[in-house]
Amino acid sequence: MQPQPTDRFGRRIHYLRVSLTDHCNLRCIYCMPVRGLTFVPHDELLNASEIETVVRAAVAIGFDKVRLTGGEPTMRTDLVEIVRRVAAVDGVRDLSMTTNAILLPGIIHDLVAAGLKRVNVHVDTLNPDHLKRVMRFGSIAEIWAGIESAVAAGLSPLKLNCVVVRDYNDADVVDLARLTIDREWHVRFIELMPLGTDECARVAMANFVPSSETRARIRAALGDLTPLPNLDHADESRNFRLPGARGVVGFISPVSEPYCGTCNRMRLTADGKLHLCLLHDTELDLKPALRNGNGHTLDAVQSVLLRGIQRKPTGHRLDEGVHTENRRMFQLGG
Ligand code: SAM
Ligand code: SF4
Repeated sequence: MQPQPTDRFGRRIHYLRVSLTDHCNLRCIYCMPVRGLTFVPHDELLNASEIETVVRAAVAIGFDKVRLTGGEPTMRTDLVEIVRRVAAVDGVRDLSMTTNAILLPGIIHDLVAAGLKRVNVHVDTLNPDHLKRVMRFGSIAEIWAGIESAVAAGLSPLKLNCVVVRDYNDADVVDLARLTIDREWHVRFIELMPLGTDECARVAMANFVPSSETRARIRAALGDLTPLPNLDHADESRNFRLPGARGVVGFISPVSEPYCGTCNRMRLTADGKLHLCLLHDTELDLKPALRNGNGHTLDAVQSVLLRGIQRKPTGHRLDEGVHTENRRMFQLGG
């Protein structure tokens, strides 16, 4: 097995998050504005074969974990082909996808047959009216049908992601956490991060809820949260168990408890840019290597990946109001 590449800060970088599209069927208030959007033109999107090439190059230098994200990855009509190609790369140990699950029921069996191992489903509340306010389109009935399809297809462990937004869904965290009592699911509560310069970034700053507050609310309603040992040091989630519960309650706290020191990831945007850190603007363009490799494409892509790892920043200055300005969350994939 290839040793995992290490950056300037001694972090082993072996997790590639691949954004497949900047389109989405929802418009979560902190992620994607309703108006004024421009999307990556079709011929600038990486195609399935180019995505496979990047994954091959990444695996050749020591990556072993891949997550497909977006935008909404299920909006790619060639998603099953992408999963099949990525899953077939020898050395991809873990292939998962982050999704709002609305389109999952129609494709889940093909995705599993193609090699998808796990999904994280984004659902901010179980309350139908609150969901309309925070995720704007779609419904809890549709998302729940997607969750059930993933469970029926045997994808495990199922993880649910909830972004906590003051005055929108902060009181609903208890109902989501309660799901872990009877189910072996992981329900994770995520702190808002500001990206870009539009209304989404303003929501992220004005409606921020620290994980400590979410934790206290759950504890007051459902009982003590027992900390669980951190089995994977790069897991960004701090995990707990409710009394007698089968599942896990997690808190992802990039703002109040940054985990930059254990970051192990690189991001690939849908238009082929290597985005070095979610909360910084630095990017390297992989497309010239992919499209003008002149017979040495794999080597050319590997060398951009290695350069990206060496330039990967650490730390952020969110507390000083400094954040990523050029990209928004629906372009980076979380
Ligand atoms: N559409 C899919 C989904 O919603 O899961 C995948 C892409 S979405 C950008 C990936 C994750 O980013 C979501 O699950 C959501 O939890 C998270 N997210 C989006 N905007 C965020 C923000 N401003 N702060 C924190 N997390 C955010
Ligand atoms: Fe779409 Fe996911 Fe962003 Fe919500 S968080 S708007 S579902 S990309």
